Amino acid sequence: MLVSAKDMLNKAREGKYAVGQFNINNLEWTKAVLLTAQENNSPVILGVSEGAGKYMGGYKTIVGMVNGMLEDLNITVPVALHLDHGSYEGSLKVIEAGFSSVMFDGSHYKIEENIAKTTELVKIAEAKGLSLEAEVGSIGGEEDGVVGAGEIADAAECKLIADLGVTMLAAGIGNIHGKYPENWKGLDFTALAAIKEATGDVPLVLHGGTGIPEDMIKKAISLGVAKINVNTECQLSFAEGTRKYIEAGKDLQGKGFDPRKLLAPGFEAIKATVKEKMELFGSVNQA
Ligand SMILES: [Zn+2]
Repeated sequence: MLVSAKDMLNKAREGKYAVGQFNINNLEWTKAVLLTAQENNSPVILGVSEGAGKYMGGYKTIVGMVNGMLEDLNITVPVALHLDHGSYEGSLKVIEAGFSSVMFDGSHYKIEENIAKTTELVKIAEAKGLSLEAEVGSIGGEEDGVVGAGEIADAAECKLIADLGVTMLAAGIGNIHGKYPENWKGLDFTALAAIKEATGDVPLVLHGGTGIPEDMIKKAISLGVAKINVNTECQLSFAEGTRKYIEAGKDLQGKGFDPRKLLAPGFEAIKATVKEKMELFGSVNQA
């Protein structure tokens, strides 16, 4: 059964580790992430952007697929199904469809409107026992056509949003979606410490987990980050595994064209990446 991300993230914050959010794109992705979580006895959050939701057929299709897998694959570790960077309307839609967690990204609104919309969603999420992530200060880079400039979130604004009763808070600290540029300045730990100081016990979320050096990940966790989003890295692993298979001409040998064979190296590559991240984040054996 899907669960809210609340308990797993509060436990992570207290235990000084982070739970990974791995974005899914199809059945292979979902199965790879769920099996890896189970094999490593780790809690996990499946992330779905609005674009990925459309791609997979719709939110009900995703809820059906994930719930089916939890049962058929005997997944017993805590699993949350979470909307990533949701609009207000999208947040309402996934709640209706049966997601267990929602991110409302109001970071592009003025703070007053972000507060107003987040307040509404806190009420709805609380009534249904779902977790809600809010965002202050846009995350840099491009995700699903949304381009953020990569602000450093204002600690006072973070406190305003945290005090609304959100489950977890994403705050920009120089992190970027997608690959990091060569001249990237790194995470702003002074800003992170100020945000932590201002927001108290709310678990903090680090977006754009692909390509952040390991020491920075560990330092961020020590400063209150309890959820780390990974998306691009699984895409790169999947593409690399698939490319190698095709470049080796394996799809042309025997029944190598069978999708179950053709997609297997990419599937295994996602599993390896997810395992590596769970080990780095410290969530192994924390289910
Ligand atoms: Zn993000």
